[in-house]
Amino acid sequence: MKSALVIGSGFAGLAAASTLAHQGFKVQLLEKNTMPGGRAREFETSGFRFDMGPSWYWMPGVFERYFQRFGHKVSDFYQLVRLDPSYRIYFAKDDYLDIPANIDGLYALFESLEKGSSAKLKKFMEEAEYKYEVGINDLVYKPGRSLLEFVDGRVLKGLFKMHLLTDMHSYVRKYFKHPKLIQLLEFPVLFLGAMPKDTPALYSMMNYADLILGTWYPMGGMHNIVKAMVEVAEEQGVEIHTDTEVQEIVIDVEHNAKKVLTNKGEFTADVVVGGADYHHVEQHLLKNGHKTYSEEYWDKRKMAPSSLIFYLGVDKKLDNLLHHNLFFDEDFEAHAQEIYEQPQWPTKPLFYVSCTSKTDDTVAPEGSENLFILIPVAPDLKDDEETKEYYYNLVMARLEEITGQSIKEHVVYKRSYAHTDFKKDYNAYKGNAYGLANTLRQTAILKPSIKSKKIKNLYYTGQLTVPGPGVPPSLISGQVVAEEIAKDFKN
Ligand SMILES: Cc1cc2nc3c(=O)[nH]c(=O)nc-3n(C[C@H](O)[C@H](O)[C@H](O)COP(=O)(O)OP(=O)(O)OC[C@H]3O[C@@H](n4cnc5c(N)ncnc54)[C@H](O)[C@@H]3O)c2cc1C
Repeated sequence: MKSALVIGSGFAGLAAASTLAHQGFKVQLLEKNTMPGGRAREFETSGFRFDMGPSWYWMPGVFERYFQRFGHKVSDFYQLVRLDPSYRIYFAKDDYLDIPANIDGLYALFESLEKGSSAKLKKFMEEAEYKYEVGINDLVYKPGRSLLEFVDGRVLKGLFKMHLLTDMHSYVRKYFKHPKLIQLLEFPVLFLGAMPKDTPALYSMMNYADLILGTWYPMGGMHNIVKAMVEVAEEQGVEIHTDTEVQEIVIDVEHNAKKVLTNKGEFTADVVVGGADYHHVEQHLLKNGHKTYSEEYWDKRKMAPSSLIFYLGVDKKLDNLLHHNLFFDEDFEAHAQEIYEQPQWPTKPLFYVSCTSKTDDTVAPEGSENLFILIPVAPDLKDDEETKEYYYNLVMARLEEITGQSIKEHVVYKRSYAHTDFKKDYNAYKGNAYGLANTLRQTAILKPSIKSKKIKNLYYTGQLTVPGPGVPPSLISGQVVAEEIAKDFKN
């Protein structure tokens, strides 16, 4: 029986471990933190339970396909509800859009803002659906090791329809003029990766995921996905070691990774999978001569944003908030510039508020609300207490003004989280939250490779390699690497 060590128990590491075990490997999963789940951990305090990272459950089919692989359904583990409205976008006080969870509602909304735009939305979504279908079925499950993988009928035939060489900025404007519609269609790429002008229009598939496939919520919280994945992993025989931080991957004279050193001692196996941040595994766990990429290479990568987050417990019910709320009451372009082009703390940031207690009674005491406030910010900034407090006061004032109520004096629990925490908790390169940006130059074979080019049996998975950042891509990444390993071992 072949054996594998997987470093890190985020979505990617858990998926890689279970898939390898399912294929007959004896797997040990090594996680530095006390709780599995990586960026999707949770914590509980004074009756409030907070998801620490992801809050948007998109692409439900990807999760279904994952659990099916192990003979399960999503409903074996958690109850999924579709949010309706999907979310709210505030542009100013009393000026907002609630995004309906059905196509007729969307057509009516578009038409109310721009005459003739519902027909354009239909066409836009037909193109997005095509990209999504080809993307999800034929592209994202490819390991990105060679261009030849893409020489297949449907991908090649439809290549021009994937809009790889058009950018999101011009693509969206080709269809729509109203600034609110443009913001609605550009926010998914902006929040998860890069400036719309640097993002291939391939990613309008995210609009299909958002507006057509919908926004869902696993009752109990996003961490329930992790709990389900841990259950599956254990069912498959994966041994999970928490509080176990890998300190070195030892390479033998034949350039094989056979052993890792941790704070809990040595672990050995036939194959090692780095599911922690790629940069950390490469640059900190390997010696010089064993790294595929240099520190300069990493420095030149365009990272997706980091985040300044506030987890707040509020001792009263709040008005004028839905489960997901985007505050686009400041200039969208200006904030994007300060994340991506001239990285700095933003002058007038957009922000996002999740209030899961609107859907789920179990996440806050009765009569209270659970708030998660996130400001997307550039990676690699200095996040001292003074700066975080400045932004807390800034967003709180806007939140109170726009929703028309006092909130700050009702905050009974407050915790902030930013770059330093990402580095300390996850060894995150530059304190990134969502990995590598989705630019054309960082797509498919142009991403850091899932297989080391220097070490025979060292592989990588997670949001810094294929297919990219986000929960569904990380889940896919783990499965893709496990399949590649199984193939390589058979050969
Ligand atoms: C604040 C925030 C909000 C987000 N919102 C969304 C959202 O709404 N929807 C969405 O789809 N995506 C969202 N994302 C992105 C998504 O959460 C990530 O893409 C995904 O969780 C990454 O999974 P991963 O397995 O690649 O990495 P991680 O979850 O970071 O897992 C890596 C693991 O490796 C461990 N590790 C690190 N170093 C070592 C070591 N030396 N030894 C052992 N273990 C180690 C870490 O502790 C961690 O558990 C969000 C992310 C953040 C941070």
